[in-house]
Amino acid sequence: MKPLGFRTVLYLCVDLIILILCFNHIPKILDRPGIPFEVAQGDLHPLVAEIIDSSACRDAKAGDTILRWEEVEVHFPEMIEYLADVRPLHSSIRCTFLRGDSSFTTSIRLIEFYQSSRFLVISLIVGLCIFFVGVFVLLTQSDKLAARVTHWMMVSFGTTIMITWGAAPPGSWEMYISRTIWFMAYLGVAVSFLIFGLSFPVERVKRLAQATPWIMIAVLCVGFFLGLSHIKVLETADLSTLNTFQLLFDLFHSSLFLFSGGGFYFILSSTRQNLTMQERKQLFWILWGLGIGILPYLIVHILPQIIFSQVLVPEEYTTICFLAVPVSFAIAFLRYQLLDIELLINRTIVYSILSFIIVVIYVLTVLLTVSMVGGEKVFGKYFSFALLMLIFGLALHPFRRWLQGFVDETFFAARANYRRALDQIRKSLDSSLSREELYRHLVESVHQCIPTNAVDLYRNTSDGWEYLAGIGMKPPDKVQVPDKIQSALNCGMIIRGVKKGSADLPELREIQEWLGLMKWSLCIPICIGEQKLFGILTLTPHVQTEIIQDEEVSLLETVCAHTRDILDRLILQEQILLTRQEKQRLEELNALKSYFVSSISHELRMPLTSIRMFAETLMVQRNVSRRKQKEYLRIIYGESERLSRLIGNIMDFAKIERGMREYKFVPLSIEGVTHRALKAIEYEVKKHKARVRVAIQKKLPAISADPDALEQAILNLLSNALKYSKDKSEINLKACKEQGHLLLEISDTGFGIPSSESTKIFERFYRISDDRSCQVGGAGLGLSLVKHIVDAHQGTITVESAVGVGSKFTMRFPITTNKARRHP
Ligand code: ADP
Repeated sequence: MKPLGFRTVLYLCVDLIILILCFNHIPKILDRPGIPFEVAQGDLHPLVAEIIDSSACRDAKAGDTILRWEEVEVHFPEMIEYLADVRPLHSSIRCTFLRGDSSFTTSIRLIEFYQSSRFLVISLIVGLCIFFVGVFVLLTQSDKLAARVTHWMMVSFGTTIMITWGAAPPGSWEMYISRTIWFMAYLGVAVSFLIFGLSFPVERVKRLAQATPWIMIAVLCVGFFLGLSHIKVLETADLSTLNTFQLLFDLFHSSLFLFSGGGFYFILSSTRQNLTMQERKQLFWILWGLGIGILPYLIVHILPQIIFSQVLVPEEYTTICFLAVPVSFAIAFLRYQLLDIELLINRTIVYSILSFIIVVIYVLTVLLTVSMVGGEKVFGKYFSFALLMLIFGLALHPFRRWLQGFVDETFFAARANYRRALDQIRKSLDSSLSREELYRHLVESVHQCIPTNAVDLYRNTSDGWEYLAGIGMKPPDKVQVPDKIQSALNCGMIIRGVKKGSADLPELREIQEWLGLMKWSLCIPICIGEQKLFGILTLTPHVQTEIIQDEEVSLLETVCAHTRDILDRLILQEQILLTRQEKQRLEELNALKSYFVSSISHELRMPLTSIRMFAETLMVQRNVSRRKQKEYLRIIYGESERLSRLIGNIMDFAKIERGMREYKFVPLSIEGVTHRALKAIEYEVKKHKARVRVAIQKKLPAISADPDALEQAILNLLSNALKYSKDKSEINLKACKEQGHLLLEISDTGFGIPSSESTKIFERFYRISDDRSCQVGGAGLGLSLVKHIVDAHQGTITVESAVGVGSKFTMRFPITTNKARRHP
């Protein structure tokens, strides 16, 4: 809070002094003497209208004309009131009445003006409420003229109500002070209201701020003068002085009409100016408060007093209406920052103040109604009881606050504490590492903060909404949305349920019907990138009539905006990851390409070198023996066989990669294929000095297979068995039938394959990176081709192997007839 300036402190001191004087005046109000009958205006003299206390005026009757008050001739009702004010309570007064043609003089006893504490209690409560609104305005905003004027308006208003006329014993200083203050404050309210109308929302008169203190000084002077003349009337009880004062008093009352009417006029005319929505709302609340608070008083109290010298209803009723003024100003401060007063007020405090006001209004209404039926004294009788209940209620207040806080925070987190709920949801959303996690966190945290039956998240797709995540009852997987609603959401509009009866517009009714159909109370769009609708968050209430609160909607809006930010980030992350993976894949492909080129050229060079070497020997050396010649030719043949197999493998691989590899399935005897394969590899077997044992079950059924492809598969497996074994090793080839399948086993006693590699070896280009494989050389294509061939025959291939013991590859083919087909 900023430090108070000198002027503010000075004003506060004046406020305090006035308040002390108001409290000091309370006994005088209770001691105010009144006459035991109601007085009405007659032709020349006032009349007895109604007897209030017959024991205090035994001889007077309703309808009697009041001629004299002691020795003073009376002419109007107020005169009797003034004359009574200066006499002690319960004193005897000799009055002369006229009944018919005869006059008589009798004694009347002065009774209490206020029959009970009813008036005092009501004026004190209402006056204090208004007074403190003025003090509050001063404490929060003292820089603005309109604020200072509001302060004086409220303080004078409260003072006028609290320092109302009481007993006026002649010569008492309190009487002088209270009466002059009353006149000053009364006039002050109307004049400051006029200045308020001229200074708010914009200053309409130049140099109004400079003129205001002088206007206020003038008000004080006029009030002071009126106060003094009133006291003079009371002291002298002189007829001409009384008449003059009464004229002045009526003028004074009329000027109040003029000033307050002017204030109303200026405020109303401001509404026609170019104002912001906020300023309009402020003016609306000011006018509302003044209308409800002041108009009843002016119309049913002051106006009849000027015209008939009589009031229509007891003052208490119009005084209660004054409470509308502080209430409307409080609303304008809280909701619309009236006078730029920014009030950050805790929800619990608002609850407390409102509950207090409601209790006060309730107690006063009950007591007033009771006293209307049972007489004014009843008010005083039950007031102490009501007060006790109020004190008891206040004593329980801390417990109530705690209970309310507990209920709010446990069940209505979003409504109780917006910031905390938002922090909680944000924290949960921020911890999401993937989209799925984000969706789950979103629905879970929203469900936790806002009491609903279900919270669901949908993705917007071209053919409706697709369910992504949710909590609560199971929603439909796909939702079809009317075009109007879809386009509203596309524009980022929030679709929410409206209160029953408020949907007068056909569009609203349509939305309401659709939401009702879906059992939702709210749909919030979540946009990504440049306003592209990504998804929709929906809330299903426990009962359809439950309407989501404004603050909850704004919380969800913030949450959805935050979700959008995180979603944008996650999508960006995914894109970066994809680009990185793509880059890595390309790098790997490049590496593979170079590896493939170098290993293939190495593979091709080896048989070529042998072919060239033996062909040259045959060409150059003439005396090569026939046996040697045969042997060299066999080598050339074998190596060219190996070369063509290699080229075949490469070409098949290329076809597979392009999806062009075709198989021609024919009924095939496995015996023939194995023998052809063994023949083709004969040279290599000899080269490795290996021994191949063949065990083919007799009368094996034919299978539907591509002969060349199957031979290629067997050759690749046999070639590997030779390559990855020491020389003079043993190789077994077994073919048999087993459970509707044809089994083809090729086993060796070679180096074996580590179990961790047994699945990877079927991947293209994969080679075990040990010393032996490196020495042998290869392109890593053989087994991947075998796997492809087996798969195309709807068979399976497995490997059993142990390092240092050997390996066994088993191919299983179904014994069925397949038609020729192109492999995808
Ligand atoms: P290449 O033989 O051209 O390297 P393959 O696809 O035929 O490619 O074989 C892949 C890997 O599997 C080989 O590098 C080798 O390490 C291993 N391998 C294949 N067959 C055997 C076998 N019978 N014994 C031991 N290792 C083998």
